[in-house]
Amino acid sequence: MKQEKSNDLYRKALNYFPGGVNSPVRAFRSVGGTPIFIEKGEGCYLTDADGNTYIDFCCSWGPLILGHNHPRVRESIIDSLSNGTSFGAPTAKENELAELILQHNPYIEKIRFVSSGTEAVMSAVRLARGYTGRPIIVKFEGCYHGHVDSLLVKAGSGLSTFGISSSAGIPESVASDTMVLPLNDKRALEVAISDFAHDIAAIIIEPVPANNGLLLQEKSFLEFLRKITADNNIMLIFDEVISGFRLGFTGAAGYYGIQPDIITYGKIIGGGLPVGAYGASAEIMSKIAPDGDVYQAGTLSGNPVAMSAGIAQLRECLNDVLYYELERKTIRFCEKLNGFAEDKSYDFRVFSIASIFWFAFTDKEKIRSSEEIDPESMRHFKKLHKILLENGVYLGPSGYEVGFISAAHTEEVLESAAEKICNALDQVFSELPEGISKV
Ligand SMILES: *Cc1c(COP(=O)(O)O)cnc(C)c1O
Repeated sequence: MKQEKSNDLYRKALNYFPGGVNSPVRAFRSVGGTPIFIEKGEGCYLTDADGNTYIDFCCSWGPLILGHNHPRVRESIIDSLSNGTSFGAPTAKENELAELILQHNPYIEKIRFVSSGTEAVMSAVRLARGYTGRPIIVKFEGCYHGHVDSLLVKAGSGLSTFGISSSAGIPESVASDTMVLPLNDKRALEVAISDFAHDIAAIIIEPVPANNGLLLQEKSFLEFLRKITADNNIMLIFDEVISGFRLGFTGAAGYYGIQPDIITYGKIIGGGLPVGAYGASAEIMSKIAPDGDVYQAGTLSGNPVAMSAGIAQLRECLNDVLYYELERKTIRFCEKLNGFAEDKSYDFRVFSIASIFWFAFTDKEKIRSSEEIDPESMRHFKKLHKILLENGVYLGPSGYEVGFISAAHTEEVLESAAEKICNALDQVFSELPEGISKV
């Protein structure tokens, strides 16, 4: 595998950007080595600056459910581009994308488009605080909600349920309005709510936590969360930036049949262009400016080119067969890998839901909270990532990140990828010192 051009580009990028990148995980810090620079994507393949091709399981971190450069998405973008790129005034495209979503998603009645998942979550949190007039937000350890100040918070030490910031630059006064609870722990939730019910504006959760491994929650936990929030007039925010339009057109809300108060979207909704959104009932959304007193705005919100990409991609997603096929392919792919690891007695397991999967170096049957992930196991992922890259399989460069299967990943491609992954696992486990991690 040649990497000269990528290396040159990276060296230059180091002069321009902190760590040479515009988003930290792209820097390959947790897997070692240096990032490959992408030249183009087509279907399920990526080609880098040196001409190497890879089967892509990162899919731009989730947005590309149809794969790269899907012809209808591309044509829709080009068509829109020829009329100009941005007007700062409404266009019919915004109505079109909103109609497409609202007519097929009974969990929200009104929507507001923004330009990223972070922006969607930030706005949803402000809406919840504005609507309830309460200050506290509860989040769960192991859920990521973008780089919103009040959510870059981790559990504090000792008995304090209030958080401490997980990034420099976030004052204690901001972090201390966020409480952090463990996932899948009804008791912790009950205690927090009984102590602070009248101060909690909202509880936010990734209903399918997929940013710190894949920490699949029991449906009963999500139902409990819905009930206890409703009983205490606390808003429930589903952060569906990953799960929205991924677990089906109606996302995790539809998958579990749970009605949250506010839902945030991102990633798939923009067809590969920068779009985020948040939605709720018409009554809750009436709090947003200019109808209501919760201010939220955006120069490029509802950008017509981005709307066109979203419209084209979501139109394809209206087809139930798409989701059925994605899930079927993902199950087959994961079963193959799990069967292999089991036969060889490797401490390795693939967890999955719909077309999301996560490689975990573990002997556990289930992993539902972040403390069940062994940080030591990440050195195995590091090796796996390197071997796969050299063999033409691209995974997101961190063992805490999930992988995605797109409509463009054919059975044949997945078969060949599974074979490469099995070979790579043999290599990873053969390099382990005696007695470690082989059962
Ligand atoms: C990606 C993600 C975000 C942040 O979205 P950006 O577009 O990166 O700002 C927020 N929440 C969840 C659940 C995400 O997966």
